[in-house]
Amino acid sequence: MRLRHIRGAEEAIAASPYVIREPASHCGAFRELFGNHNPIRIEVGMGKGRFIMEMAALHPEINYIGIERYSSVLLRALQKREQLELPNIYFMCIDAKELAEVFAPGEVDRIYLNFSDPWPKDRHARRRLTSPDFMKVYDKVLRPDGLVEFKTDNQDLFTYSLEAIPEAGWKIDAFTRDLHHNEEMAQGNVMTEYEMKFSEQGNPICKLIASR
Ligand code: SAM
Repeated sequence: MRLRHIRGAEEAIAASPYVIREPASHCGAFRELFGNHNPIRIEVGMGKGRFIMEMAALHPEINYIGIERYSSVLLRALQKREQLELPNIYFMCIDAKELAEVFAPGEVDRIYLNFSDPWPKDRHARRRLTSPDFMKVYDKVLRPDGLVEFKTDNQDLFTYSLEAIPEAGWKIDAFTRDLHHNEEMAQGNVMTEYEMKFSEQGNPICKLIASR
């Protein structure tokens, strides 16, 4: 995602009723924030939030939290969010590294990673959101039967993830390198912004589902 600092982004985020301020203060109590006991699903690196807002509209019985570390990007999601009447979605402006300080053990029901930055250089492998370091963080916050769902069009990142995720002690339950032509895995698929862009360019979309 190209980054340009937008003046006033931090202030708009701080003032928005849709952004969770001081997220760690809700640790273990996110259900109170939503006012129900529905499962909580998060997208890490949601960008402009197309996917998670559509998921929230389609699944009112689920609570969603979109996580994005850059305020300028989150601001774009907020502009869209303001036009929707959805009681089941909030955003957080944090780095994925902080997830275990924000959520209690097992508080999260599912984690979506969509078109995560590939960090192609070997020396940056630990920054990839499917690296064993990040899988350890997800292990802390995800309920025991919870799932990580990952989509990308980047073949190298996908191949890396198919190896790195089991290295961290997880199982790959299912995967495809052509999601849009895999009837079973494409069922109920909601496209992300990047997925629309890359599939229009003819890139096949890869998806995997991981559990412990
Ligand atoms: N998920 C969206 C999609 O599929 O259209 C956006 C994909 S974009 C390539 C990746 C996003 O993840 C960027 O907005 C980036 O800022 C965010 N991101 C990358 N690393 C992150 C991290 N460690 N914590 C939170 N967000 C992160």
